[in-house]
Amino acid sequence: MKGVNWSELDVCIDDYIGSAGFDLDELPNRVDPLTTSREELALARYKMWQPGQRLRIRFLDGEQALHWRVEEQASQWLKYANLEFEFGNFPDAEIRITFNGSGYRSLVGTDALKRPSPFPTMTLGGFTVNTNATELRRVVIHEFGHAIGCVHEQSSPSIDIPWDVEKVYAYYARYGWDKAKVDDNVLKRYKKHEVFHTEDHDEDSIMQYPVNKALTIGDFEIGWNTELSEKDKIFIAKMYPKEESLRW
Ligand SMILES: [Zn+2]
Repeated sequence: MKGVNWSELDVCIDDYIGSAGFDLDELPNRVDPLTTSREELALARYKMWQPGQRLRIRFLDGEQALHWRVEEQASQWLKYANLEFEFGNFPDAEIRITFNGSGYRSLVGTDALKRPSPFPTMTLGGFTVNTNATELRRVVIHEFGHAIGCVHEQSSPSIDIPWDVEKVYAYYARYGWDKAKVDDNVLKRYKKHEVFHTEDHDEDSIMQYPVNKALTIGDFEIGWNTELSEKDKIFIAKMYPKEESLRW
């Protein structure tokens, strides 16, 4: 599906502070994915910024031309969400981005305030001015989704991914992940009171986490999404409305 390359571990770490933790009893039921209702986007209820809030964003490293590319893609959210991004060399910026290291991750919403400056709140590891446009768009929009409070679709309270749990553990063990890390980053689900979410399934969501068919029961599989979906746009506009009175 969509040319997914599973030969490399390329998952985004949903860097979530204060999670209620993983409970094996809360694993999704192994049900037919074609008949279940899933959600495309879930938003951490207690980690949202205020509608209309101005967030200052600072690059800790990287070239100016790369900063512009990131800024352009990040700002796609602002067509729909009532937030402001101000990019600049602010010492106390709420969101601090590094291109050093490997992997992609971001703190979720206001958790960024819990990490002292100058430590990064978002890692876009290895990006350069030459990074492929589709890859850069996919990752930047997704990580900024976390930065404004979105969590992974797979972690939604009512999603039913028919994981083959033992295969999941075995797969990530090859990358040195122990079971606790897999629980936190792959199998974890949020409790219903922790997140806002929509009812209709939208597997095109930018926050939809790819699911490898080899790790599920049956043929269940989700590929990479690379753009905001129509439902992403509608949902984030409801979460950060222009008028406070319209807020859910
Ligand atoms: Zn992510």
